[in-house]
Amino acid sequence: MEKKNGLAMILSGLRRDLRSFITLSLKENETSWQQWISRVKRDVHVRCWEMKGCTRTDCPSYKNTCGRCWLIAGTMCGGKPLGGFASKYKSCTECEVYQAAVLSDPINEVYEHLITLVFSLRDKQLELKSLALHDELTGLFNRAYFELVIKQEVKKANRYGGGFTVFMIDIDNFKYINDTYGHLHGDGILREFALILKNSIRESDILIRYGGDEFMIISHGTSTLDNSAIASRISHSISQWNGEYGSENYSLSFSHGCAVFDKSKDLKEVLEEADARMYKNKEQNRQNRKQNSSC
Ligand code: GH3
Ligand code: MG
Repeated sequence: MEKKNGLAMILSGLRRDLRSFITLSLKENETSWQQWISRVKRDVHVRCWEMKGCTRTDCPSYKNTCGRCWLIAGTMCGGKPLGGFASKYKSCTECEVYQAAVLSDPINEVYEHLITLVFSLRDKQLELKSLALHDELTGLFNRAYFELVIKQEVKKANRYGGGFTVFMIDIDNFKYINDTYGHLHGDGILREFALILKNSIRESDILIRYGGDEFMIISHGTSTLDNSAIASRISHSISQWNGEYGSENYSLSFSHGCAVFDKSKDLKEVLEEADARMYKNKEQNRQNRKQNSSC
């Protein structure tokens, strides 16, 4: 009778947990994921670094108190990071730490499998999200990310005041590179240009490949001084690049324009303003090149 009651309690606990896990998983947002993690934080007492007497302080599992080392990608078992979740998990099931922690009793095993299943779905979800929001060639954020992030920035500026600056940047004469040296070489230039931009902005700025040879920076600095500092850092790096890789026939140059958004403004108009300034700057650069070549 006692045994029957104990089993009924375990089953009802499992049923309740399963239901709340499913509810949280279906929400698929950051808050529900954090709630999910806190629910599964029942301690696992077998810890890899203790059991193996490990001293790899650079391993993400080292001194980790949660104990579920098989859920942490990038652990150093075998002497090198094992990378993605799926490949890591396969090798973890062979390990004595996993076996001691997971297979201790059948109910524990069911819970651990469940947790693993949701972690692996979460891992896939993050991978797909990252693929959808990044440009494959340069690794920068893409236009889809821009559409998401700009809405958040506008909301923030409208609610808390302040604002942001939008920079439009376009490489000059990029078609010449493609036509003269081929598209693969053009791809390489786009990658290098993206790196120059990345190294010219602050950590809080957002860099996007807007499309083709056009890039965008969303900067949280809004003063003229902040904005001219970004433009001159980019110009300086481009001059250095030209010193090293430019030739008589081609030197890399860009045109840019910026506009500041604050809550009194309409986003569409701010984007158009930045774009118009970029084209004005491009025209100016063209005139300068013409003048220089006729000297
Ligand atoms: P402008 O000075 O007026 O900016 O002219 P541009 O020659 O730079 O040409 P424009 O900005 O109008 O067009 C960009 C070109 O970039 C057109 C397209 O063929 C090329 N392009 C777009 N995406 C890629 C890419 O991923 N790789 C390569 N190699 N070329 C690309
Ligand atoms: Mg261009």
